[in-house]
Amino acid sequence: MKITFKYDNYWDYETMTEKLEELKALYPEVISLESLGKTKEDKSVWAVTLSKGDKDPKDKPAFYIDGNIHAGEVTGSMCAMYVIDALCTGNNEEDIDYLLRNYTYYVLPKLTPDGSDYYLHTANKLRSVNKVYPKETEKGLVAKDMDGDGVIRLMRFKSNQGAWKISKENPRLMEGRLPQDFKGPFYHVVTEGEVKGNFSLGLVTNKSPWGYDFNRNFPFGWYDEKRQPGSGEYPLVHDETKLMADFILSHPNIGFVNALHTSGGVFIYPPGTY
Ligand SMILES: [Zn+2]
Repeated sequence: MKITFKYDNYWDYETMTEKLEELKALYPEVISLESLGKTKEDKSVWAVTLSKGDKDPKDKPAFYIDGNIHAGEVTGSMCAMYVIDALCTGNNEEDIDYLLRNYTYYVLPKLTPDGSDYYLHTANKLRSVNKVYPKETEKGLVAKDMDGDGVIRLMRFKSNQGAWKISKENPRLMEGRLPQDFKGPFYHVVTEGEVKGNFSLGLVTNKSPWGYDFNRNFPFGWYDEKRQPGSGEYPLVHDETKLMADFILSHPNIGFVNALHTSGGVFIYPPGTY
């Protein structure tokens, strides 16, 4: 398959936008680019239309693809970009020419540009977007890159109640404490971070403060926080999910939807959850 770019690293919003502009300059007869709207950080949610020939793209059956609705699923965005690239670059090949003349492809390659950039440029993990939800952590252990090496690792601290001990064979390794281990020192092993508030026994590791899950914010099957964590205050509360829903509703020629995620290695058909 012919492609224009190399796929050997993950593209943030700025790089991806440059690549889209480049494809548009190279293949103006195939690709058009539309900003559906802006995010809180003033980034566009891009919608790409791929089509060839005289027919209006809206008058042909369409295949819809989106990626990176979850911030860390940057491979989803790269996959979507690869599809765009392959359809543009190979558009003179007989089979791709046929597809582009008879069908329309809509691709939204990065549904959460803010969250995805936060994931790529900081050590943090987050579900969809870097907006605090449901509420700021008040006490407990909060994951944080304390030594500034760009990765949140594990850390240990001494405690008589600790479930871990240092390996005799390799002092860099921790081993589980056994029932017959009475003599310390023993350690707790926890995520790298800082403790907020007082604690003695029962240190609580807090969840990521960015709990919004865009994929749980759609009107179909929406439930509140207790049953569906991350669902948000109400369906389509986010700019990003609203823009996506409006795009799909305004393109009734869409006959197939492929949402690219990164877990499981499976195809999940609706209605489905896990
Ligand atoms: Zn996902």
